Amino acid sequence: MQWETVIGLEIHAQLATRSKIFSGASTAYGAQPNTQACAVDLGLPGVLPVLNAGAVNMAIRFGLATGCTIAPRSVFARKNYFYPDLPKGYQISQYELPVVHDGAVTIELPDGEEKRIGITRAHLEEDAGKSLHEGFEGVTGIDLNRAGTPLLEIVSEPDLGSADEAVAYMRKIHSLVRYLGICDGNMQEGSFRCDANVSVRPAGQESLGTRTEIKNVNSFRFVEKAIAFEVERQIDVIESGGAVIQETRLYDAVNNETRSMRTKEEANDYRYFPDPDLLPLVIDEAAIEEARSMLPELPDARKARFVEQYGLSAADASLLTAARETADYYEALVEAVGGEAKLAANWVMGELAGALNREGMEIGASPVSPADLGALLRRISDNTISGKIAKDVFDAMWRGEGDADSIIDARGLRQLTDSSAIEGMIDEVIAANPAQVEQYRAGKDKLLGFFVGQVMKASGGKANPAQVNEILRRKLAE
Ligand code: ADP
Ligand code: MG
Repeated sequence: MQWETVIGLEIHAQLATRSKIFSGASTAYGAQPNTQACAVDLGLPGVLPVLNAGAVNMAIRFGLATGCTIAPRSVFARKNYFYPDLPKGYQISQYELPVVHDGAVTIELPDGEEKRIGITRAHLEEDAGKSLHEGFEGVTGIDLNRAGTPLLEIVSEPDLGSADEAVAYMRKIHSLVRYLGICDGNMQEGSFRCDANVSVRPAGQESLGTRTEIKNVNSFRFVEKAIAFEVERQIDVIESGGAVIQETRLYDAVNNETRSMRTKEEANDYRYFPDPDLLPLVIDEAAIEEARSMLPELPDARKARFVEQYGLSAADASLLTAARETADYYEALVEAVGGEAKLAANWVMGELAGALNREGMEIGASPVSPADLGALLRRISDNTISGKIAKDVFDAMWRGEGDADSIIDARGLRQLTDSSAIEGMIDEVIAANPAQVEQYRAGKDKLLGFFVGQVMKASGGKANPAQVNEILRRKLAE
């Protein structure tokens, strides 16, 4: 039996407002427990929520960027349930009428094809507090700082056909919310996390299989592993004669498995009803235009421009535009070099990305600025140094030893372009390797590489490789 996987994601993006969605309390991460939850967040008697206009503006920006319809009127609803980290006994969310709905994003598949993934809706809601287990013996700690933090819950259509597609989609949304400046995307801090709904069905079957929902996965790698595990588990259950139960599961990264948490609640379990404390949210043309004026160039458009303007491949342009900071760095670098777009791309994706990775550093924190790196790349393009030596210079720049020119001078790295000096070295290499010369002249062309290597070694890597090649060919042909 051939099985087909069906996945829909619900992504929670924490909106980057300074204060909470219905109160003036701070949303800053990392404060002492329970120092940033005010009377409104706690739902104390007599308080009223006031909607944060900044959060609405961000939701509109997201809607515009994904081709969604912006609802002229949407409604906040109470989702009722009991949990110790939810002091009001309900979460304020949106249910029947979300702020934006019916849009899409495009993801790239590994074979280079593109696939449209529908966005059912995105709605505004408040986050709950946090239960803390670590460092407590026999009790649970409750930190309510996060209560009332604004979230945008982005719900996809069940359009994703594999764990890889789910990860590509999640990366796409991650890139988008960061471009839009509406979410910092920090997954360790929980600012960007998802619930993965997974089902399987016999290949070709029209109707969807019973799904399970894996809650709160907060890394791309875990999403991939959790879905892969869950798909195998469901197939096993069905093939051994059982049935998948609709339930909520959690992913255990230590044992790489999903486990049942509870049977899935139905919407009516939550007794949703419109929150009587909040007016319907009315969005007029002026608010939409204001949000539109704040949109940056979006990743897809920027990628297309990189291909067009810099002559990059689609794959390179994708990598360079996935994060806004990387794309900004790249464009500043090309400007600093004054061209050499492909060389600049190779360095950003190669040496620079490697060094950042090694140090676990964001590109914004790079000790080598676009201007610094530009000065180095200019020395490659004007033949002062070879690309190979440039890597050593880069390492020295990274360690703070100075700018490109002073390192090149201090270490005497200028490329040797004096042809008589190069000829001298070539003569020596030819004289020292008579057997190879004979073989080369007898037709073993491959040996040219050997001679080039010997001359480069003799020059301490400083001879101009193009010149070495040319003179060698001439002398060996004599
Ligand atoms: P709920 O609000 O109860 O979690 P929804 O119907 O709003 O449920 O769906 C939530 C997510 O589950 C959506 O992303 C949707 O695409 C996905 N989904 C719904 N049915 C299935 C299914 N059978 N298999 C996989 N994903 C599904
Ligand atoms: Mg759900």
